[in-house]
Formats: sequence, structure tokens, C-alpha cells
Amino acid sequence: MTNQTRPPRYLVGVDLGGAKMLAGIYDETIRRVDTVKRSTKSDRGPAAVIERIARCIRDVIDEADARVHDVRAVVVGVPGKVDRKAGWVVQSDVLGWADVPLVDRLQEAIGLPVLIENDHQLATLGVYTLELKSRPRRLLGLFIGARIGGGWLVDGNLCEGFAEVTEAIGHLMLDPKGPRCRCGGHGCFESLASRHAVLDQIHRAMLLGRRTVLEEALDGLGRLRAKDLFRAYRGGDALTCEVIDSAARWIRVALANLVETLKPEVVVLGGGMTEVIREALRDSIFRSGVEGHETPTIDDVPVWISSLGDEACLAGAALLARQHGEVNNE
Ligand SMILES: [Zn+2]
Repeated sequence: MTNQTRPPRYLVGVDLGGAKMLAGIYDETIRRVDTVKRSTKSDRGPAAVIERIARCIRDVIDEADARVHDVRAVVVGVPGKVDRKAGWVVQSDVLGWADVPLVDRLQEAIGLPVLIENDHQLATLGVYTLELKSRPRRLLGLFIGARIGGGWLVDGNLCEGFAEVTEAIGHLMLDPKGPRCRCGGHGCFESLASRHAVLDQIHRAMLLGRRTVLEEALDGLGRLRAKDLFRAYRGGDALTCEVIDSAARWIRVALANLVETLKPEVVVLGGGMTEVIREALRDSIFRSGVEGHETPTIDDVPVWISSLGDEACLAGAALLARQHGEVNNE
């Protein structure tokens, strides 16, 4: 490649969720220029969703007053198992997809290089680069939201072969007598501590006559957000505290096992439930350090509470898009 023409200077990341998708356009310093959000409508099937992703990408490029050929590559964060090399979504329960050739179809639709990766892996990469300044050599990400998943980086590289593990973390069996999980098992980590699990337990207790300040939002219990839970927890609502404290205990157990097995240098905790879980774990994993600074640790491994939220996956996607360009320009 000659340098006579100006190389594409934008990177696009997409965080594809079961309910909504978020596309972000970044410059080469991973500064976010703009984002566009759209509902996923996964019930319409893969072809319709891929068309919506393509539209979302075109829209975010347009919002940034850029053109398609100004974009180097697009990386899509997928909620499920992906085969990055083949460009297939192997399995995504959230989307209801199995063996979908997402890369080929999306490249055809938008005419840009496309890569895919598991969303939690990308979020781990985003936190590693933006918040941890690329320091820890072995980094474990744990993301607690509607789902639970992990990410694993060694020297800043997404590990091939970890795709199986990243999804499996949510299905670590912690309590054989626990509730049924969407995977068909019982007492999986996700069925005990995800946002869905917490809401489900609160809902069931309410049906049995337990009172809670969350009753005000009873009509839309399924739509309760993490911040509603945080407010009720902070306010000392008995039912919310009971359920969240139980979830936090399971997170503590899972973290202890993961730290023991994988021996990370740092653990990142992120996802939509971060704030409330941080509060609930305060006594069990956070202890005061020198000069009153909080130094969260679990079994002597520092725990980094990410404040990137949605940005983690998008920025991770932009970073991977940038790497792709670098490889191609060699
Ligand atoms: Zn499960």
C-alpha cells in the first residue's frame, strides 16, 4: 500500500445486545466521535438484524460527517460464542442465533472489513487499554449484567480458544439446588447473580406477598433497571438487600474460584450491575488501604471496578478494528 492516498482514519465498533445495539465511531486515538443506538429486534431473525446493524453503522458514520471509505474496519461485539477466524456467530442464546455467518453478510451489506468478537472479551480489552493503561499482564474481566460473562487477556492479547471459557463463566455451577438456568442447568452463576436472576427472585418473593419499595414499578418489573435496584438497596429495602446480598455472596464465591484457577494479576469488574454489586461487596472484598484509600482486593488480587459501562465494549471493538488495520498495512 502506498501512502499517497490518505488512509481511512475512523474505526467503528458495535455492541450488539438482545434488545438494543449501539454503534460507536472512533478516531485513531480511540476518542469517541459519535454513537447511534437502535433496537435489535432479534425476533425478526438474523437477516433482518444484520440489515439493522448495517443501517446503524451507516447512520453513525453519517452522524460523524464521515464517509464509508473513511472507515478502516468495523468490529462487532456479539453476546455469545463466536468463531473469530471463520467470522461466524457459533451460538448466541440472547439473539437466538446458531451458526450465522455474520462477517460475510455484514461485509456484503456495508462494503467494509468486518471482524467479530465476544462482547465481554472486547469490554475487557476496552478497560485494559482505557482505564488500566495496558499494564496488567494477565487480566480477568467479569461482567455482571443481564448476562454474566468473562474476558481474559494476556499481554493485552485476546486469547484464541478462550471463547468457550468466556461464556462458560456465567454457567459455572455454584449451587446444585439453585434455580434453573436458561442453559438447562441448575444453580449456574448467571442464574444466581445476574440482573435477570435478581429481578426474578424479587418478583417471586412479591408474588408470595413480600413487600418492597420496588412495588411502585410492579407493572414493569421486567424493565426495572440496575439504578432502581441500587436506590432500593441503598435505601435499605429488606427484600432488595436480601436478594442483592445473596447475589454478591455468589459473585464472591465465583471470583475466589476464578482467581484461584486463572491467577490473574488484576480482576476487572464491570457490567450494568457494577454499582450495586460494588456496594454489596464493600465489606467482603473491599478493604481500606493506606491513607484511607480504598484498595479492593480478592485473595490479594486487586479488583478494578470499571466505570466505562457501555463504552467498554465499544472502545474494545474500536481497538480491535485499529489492530486489524495495522496488520493489514504491514
Ligand atoms: Zn447456565
